[in-house]
Amino acid sequence: MSEEKTYHMSPAEFRRFGYAAIDWIADYYERVESLPVLSPVKPGDTRAALPAHPPQQGEPFDAVLRDVSERILPGITHWQSPNFFAYFPANASGPSILGDLISSGLGVQGMLWATSPACTELETHVLDWVAQMLDLPPRFRSTGTGGGVIEDSASSAALCALLAARERATGLASNARGCRERLTAYTSSQAHSSIEKGAKIAGIGRENLRLIDVDANFALRPDLLAQRINEDRQAGCVPFFAAATVGTTSSNAIDPVPEIGRICREQGLWLHVDGAMAGTAALCPEFRHVQAGLEFADSYCFNPHKWMFTNFDCDCFFVADRAALIQALSILPEYLRNQATETGAVIDYRDWQIPLGRRFRALKLWFVIRHYGVEGLQHHVRRHVALAQEFAGWVRLDPDFELAVLPPLNLVCFRHRGGDGFNQALMDRLNASGALFFTHTRLQDRLTLRFCVGQTHTERRHVEQAWRRIRQTAAELARG
Ligand SMILES: *Cc1c(COP(=O)(O)O)cnc(C)c1O
Repeated sequence: MSEEKTYHMSPAEFRRFGYAAIDWIADYYERVESLPVLSPVKPGDTRAALPAHPPQQGEPFDAVLRDVSERILPGITHWQSPNFFAYFPANASGPSILGDLISSGLGVQGMLWATSPACTELETHVLDWVAQMLDLPPRFRSTGTGGGVIEDSASSAALCALLAARERATGLASNARGCRERLTAYTSSQAHSSIEKGAKIAGIGRENLRLIDVDANFALRPDLLAQRINEDRQAGCVPFFAAATVGTTSSNAIDPVPEIGRICREQGLWLHVDGAMAGTAALCPEFRHVQAGLEFADSYCFNPHKWMFTNFDCDCFFVADRAALIQALSILPEYLRNQATETGAVIDYRDWQIPLGRRFRALKLWFVIRHYGVEGLQHHVRRHVALAQEFAGWVRLDPDFELAVLPPLNLVCFRHRGGDGFNQALMDRLNASGALFFTHTRLQDRLTLRFCVGQTHTERRHVEQAWRRIRQTAAELARG
């Protein structure tokens, strides 16, 4: 027998290197707190540390892992640091990482039920669990006319909702001959940019997306929505879609979904509700008011990959009428024909999303829910909200600082009274220190600092230390 070189990693090597990789991650989590949260590298630094040409011969795994530590890590902004308070959390967890690893190991394509039945059925089942955990209206469960699916992102969920709404409004004609009606869509001026992107991709056109003005709390004004819909109808447009936000990215504002929902129902508009980050709060009954009005929604999404300890990517997307979504997105080329699909007895998730192929993402969500239990998840959500509220209390008591809005949940928008330039300098200096990382927005036309609590390992001491550093640095800057 000839000893032909296979080039593959043998099972024995995989076992050894696999343990080393897990050790690497565990070591990383043990020391991530001590690393500068915001990566200090300059554009091009990471590439300059890498060889210009790919290796002709394979290299030892140890060398690859060493380069992760030495050449890649300096260019990483540590989203898993307990001192990360920027943008929104992307909180990973042990069970999620391991679920994702097993998903990689199985390496299945879950586009059809037939391509891996358990991949589809676990997803349907876990999404029904999530619907129970949040106490979503029954119409979003697979046992009724609706159901849930895991999308890669809230952006994809919004696009799918737009496409389903477009086809519902045009009797499936847009799919056949392109969209000819002047369809108009509605969202608030504070909505996430993914709604505008979706409107562009879905052929609605940015100019036909109406950005409705907001109230003093940055929530959409339903009176202006109703007025604009009427004006558009009079002008010969076809209002077809509205997106409400529960927890805007900028300030965590919560749109009045019950009022918006009533208008949408009266006017026959598809209502999509985007709860990307704040939706997780509804795990706790005391925060479930963020779901008020969801019984009017045609679709709803939130991101376990933001605040529910599940690694990116995992967006839970629920629809009340799955047929509307499937009709909009279904395709059936000959090479995918199979008996299970023909019988209509199974779900083929390729018809619930933009791409054909799909990863086994339900596994990591299932691992997370089974590890923490509902109780564990509630515990951490409560803790994060309490820490953010405590932080807001300190801001309110300090004469040099003010809250821009009352924080509804885990995001605090605040500023120093010294003006835009001062706040910018304060944020830049703190972020450059590496000790913490937070970001900004503009509210009331003023630079506003955002402090978002939601990292897996953020504890009270991290929030306290952050506030101490913010005050100290502000005092230093004020002294000049
Ligand atoms: C973060 C965010 C999004 C975008 O989420 P992706 O999953 O990255 O597409 C959309 N809407 C809101 C309100 C968000 O906060």
